[in-house]
Amino acid sequence: MGSPAPASLKQNNLLFLVFIMILFFCSIPDTANLCSSQSSVNPRTVIPYKSSTNISSLEKLQLEGYFSFDHIDFAARDFGNRYHFLPLAVLHPKSVSDISSTVKHVFKMGSTSQLTVAARGHSHSLQGQAQAHQGVVINMESLQGPEMQIHTGELPYVDASGGDLWINILHETLKHGLAPKSWTDYLHLTVGGTLSNAGISGQAFKHGPQINNIYQLEVVTGKGEVVTCSEKQNAELFYGVLGGLGQFGIITRARISLEPAPKMVKWIRVLYDEFSKFSNDQERLISSKDSFDYIEGLVIINRTGLLNNWRSSFNPKDPLQASRFISEGKTLYCLEIAKYFSPDESDIMNQKTESLLSELNYIPSTLFLSEVPYVEFLDRVHLSEIKLRSKGLWEIPHPWLNLLIPRTKINEFAQAVFGNILTGNSNGPILIYPVNKSKWNNRTSLITPEEEIFYQVAFLSSAMPSSTGKDGLFHILAQNQRILDFCSKASIGAKQYLPHYSTQEEWQTHFGPQWEVFVRRKSTYDPMAILAPGQRIFRRK
Ligand code: FAD
Repeated sequence: MGSPAPASLKQNNLLFLVFIMILFFCSIPDTANLCSSQSSVNPRTVIPYKSSTNISSLEKLQLEGYFSFDHIDFAARDFGNRYHFLPLAVLHPKSVSDISSTVKHVFKMGSTSQLTVAARGHSHSLQGQAQAHQGVVINMESLQGPEMQIHTGELPYVDASGGDLWINILHETLKHGLAPKSWTDYLHLTVGGTLSNAGISGQAFKHGPQINNIYQLEVVTGKGEVVTCSEKQNAELFYGVLGGLGQFGIITRARISLEPAPKMVKWIRVLYDEFSKFSNDQERLISSKDSFDYIEGLVIINRTGLLNNWRSSFNPKDPLQASRFISEGKTLYCLEIAKYFSPDESDIMNQKTESLLSELNYIPSTLFLSEVPYVEFLDRVHLSEIKLRSKGLWEIPHPWLNLLIPRTKINEFAQAVFGNILTGNSNGPILIYPVNKSKWNNRTSLITPEEEIFYQVAFLSSAMPSSTGKDGLFHILAQNQRILDFCSKASIGAKQYLPHYSTQEEWQTHFGPQWEVFVRRKSTYDPMAILAPGQRIFRRK
């Protein structure tokens, strides 16, 4: 029999050791999650020593806005609903100087704090890109700057805050008969959020993505400096930030180019049952001079009563033929096009539209048309949001995959993916449409395929919570991986849009020859790698 005293001492030592280890692991900052594809929730049950030092240091900052340290789990959520990194604090800035002071403070704390800072727009990221594990999340929508200012004249523009939603910009600019030229399909996203990626929609073939339609930015760099930049002033920062995944600075203000806003939109859908006919028509349309104003496309797999569903918002040109069309069991390609017009010019618009349509090779019985106000057209996805929210189907996991595919490989891609990998049903819309690279500025940080024309292909899947079937997260993620594996085996030359990678090697491959420029810009504008840690590109220094 051993003596009881040494045994309890040993136990105490062991408990102490476990306690120290818990403290140690809790105080390891974001680096543990850098380059990790695992989701994690970190309940703040124990506040490690380092975190409490960071909290008290942040609390001392003199701000017009304020920090929250509790009830901040909203900042660990996004549209993807798969990654959850709890921050230490959320900053609700009132001014640009609040943002600048915070970043400057974190920068001055040096490596000891390991604090990171993530600007959070509307948090419609998919894999935690706007989150900061045990760092500071800046709630950009609470930034109050000067009112949105609209300048009319020959080159009209609007000065908007980085936290403004595009839908609000639309409503404000319309008061002056103006609107931005290039959009996303969904407008409840912030200026800073989409400009950090690109902002691509059916107008991009004509005007380039949103990042091509910006005259000037105001940015808070990773050192806390407030810098105005444009093509002519601090151009390196300007082009770095556009499409820069939040790595070089926080966009606090953007000067967005505008055009006269149309009043109405002729919105058209037609179907194809052959991919090559569909893509040939799309390419012809994006290359012709006086084309439509919006060109997109969808892949529709095995949908029952498709044309019947369209009737709620579109009118068939030939109702009888349309009612006989069977979509079930087929893979169909839907060309979606739109022509803007003023009601007093509807005859000219109709003639032009007829003439453009007469050159296309769609299935004649599937021509569907509609006329809607411009705002309704642009804000179309919001209607789906309302419906999905009411059914509890908005805040579910969204394992989306967005790819940019070079034109010369699109047939091979379509054959393998739509003909083989995706069989049965899709778990959400699949968008597919080409754009002209010549309309895209190649000085921005956005990475696109080499070729002159490339396709945006977006698999916008929703996963049914707790399903283990084909509509479950596991199945959809495996399907996404098969698509990515196919692309790499067949050397498709695809680039991810809204990119997401687990290792720095993968990021390096994504950027290719641009990697060096990206790293150089990072060391110039955010040398401590404080900003946008949720992208998992660089480790905090
Ligand atoms: P967040 O998710 O909040 O942030 C995204 C990234 O940008 C993060 O890294 C964040 O730190 C950084 N960031 C945020 N604000 C700033 C800022 N002010 N300065 C610097 N960095 C900042 N994209 C398209 O291109 N075309 C589409 O048609 C399209 N449709 C979509 C539809 C839906 C329903 C959803 C959910 C997304 C869609 N997207 C589309 C993707 C969308 O553009 C991106 O997810 C975008 O980042 C979301 O904007 P956000 O304001 O929610 O950004």
